[in-house]
Amino acid sequence: QPVLGILGGGQLARMLALAAAPLGVKTLVVDSAADACAGQVAPLLVADWKDYVALERFAREVDVVTFDFENVPAETAHWLAERVAVSPVPRALAVAQDRLAEKTLFRECGLQTPAFVAVDTREDLDRALAEVGAPAILKTRRLGYDGKGQFRLRTSQDADAAWAALGEQGAAHGLILEAFVPFERELSVVAVRSREGDFRTWPLTRNWHTDGVLSLSLAPAPDIEELQRRVTGLARTLAERLEYVGVFALELFVEDGELLGNEMAPRVHNSGHWTIEGAHTSQFENHVRAVLGLPLGDTGARGLSCMFNWIGELPDPAPVLTTTDAHWHDYGKQARPGRKVGHATVCAPDARTLAERMATIAGALHREAQAGPALDLLRHL
Ligand code: ATP
Ligand code: MG
Ligand code: MG
Repeated sequence: QPVLGILGGGQLARMLALAAAPLGVKTLVVDSAADACAGQVAPLLVADWKDYVALERFAREVDVVTFDFENVPAETAHWLAERVAVSPVPRALAVAQDRLAEKTLFRECGLQTPAFVAVDTREDLDRALAEVGAPAILKTRRLGYDGKGQFRLRTSQDADAAWAALGEQGAAHGLILEAFVPFERELSVVAVRSREGDFRTWPLTRNWHTDGVLSLSLAPAPDIEELQRRVTGLARTLAERLEYVGVFALELFVEDGELLGNEMAPRVHNSGHWTIEGAHTSQFENHVRAVLGLPLGDTGARGLSCMFNWIGELPDPAPVLTTTDAHWHDYGKQARPGRKVGHATVCAPDARTLAERMATIAGALHREAQAGPALDLLRHL
């Protein structure tokens, strides 16, 4: 029986383990926290990224290693890759860990990005602001997620405040200043590539963020026919460049009809959670298939799906549990402000039915504001 090793024991590892089981694949998860939520559904090895004694045992017990978390130190990934198959390859992980390398690669592959400049010192920040202009966003090059490690500058007057917030982290890992994009739409694509080079994308997903954290996704995103083809081509170029095997996501902005690349996630992605119930094969199942050398499954959508993220704490599950084709996901995590603790996916065969089901759930849970932008869109289709 094949064993899949996963570095990181959050909800992504948990959903990967749940998708692996019907394929007859066992899972072993590594996390430094004994209460990591994937440990509720799969065996958990408690160890940190420098515990080479534990990692040696892990490498012996698994057939392939993958990631729930892209910020595993590069040395750990390389050390493991000398002992066991690691998918995606450490080089792909390294690129996705660094916003500067990532955006540079996007441009090389033909995907435009917001204007950006590397910032290492306070003087660099002034020069960068002169170049990209305001408003702008200062971000840590590494280790940021869910909008953490970012500072929004409305004008160049905000430079001191931005530096006070992030200068210290900048000294350690570097920063990047990006032009603020007043985008019309935020989209993502989830893609998968097999060992043999079979490449597929799921339909583009429309996303809405609140305070830098994903709040709501709608898939397939409306009005994307032409964009889907372009994005699939760009994602394929990127995957081939990186000799990527497994699932990854690209986060995109659409501004004046133009595509801009925001970032890449070298793993399954929050905006692809709808594929569990809303696609013929989920991102989790196809990732397991890809890294174990199995054939990929159909990435087509079954209908329309909308995903609500539950941030901070879970609402009452009853309105979701009692709605047709609505699906509840509790990650088994402790409630904490800003933390992703679960999600719900609502599916339907057409836009009108989806809007009705979403409105029922949002009304019962007082989540009208969260559902609002997708409801407006669905009602105008
Ligand atoms: P994730 O949890 O997706 O990894 P992150 O912390 O890496 O998030 P980003 O994806 O860079 O952060 O930014 C979070 C959100 O902030 C984006 O999805 C987008 O809504 C907004 N944002 C980021 N960069 C820009 C930009 N240059 N212009 C406009 N909005 C932006
Ligand atoms: Mg990110
Ligand atoms: Mg992001």
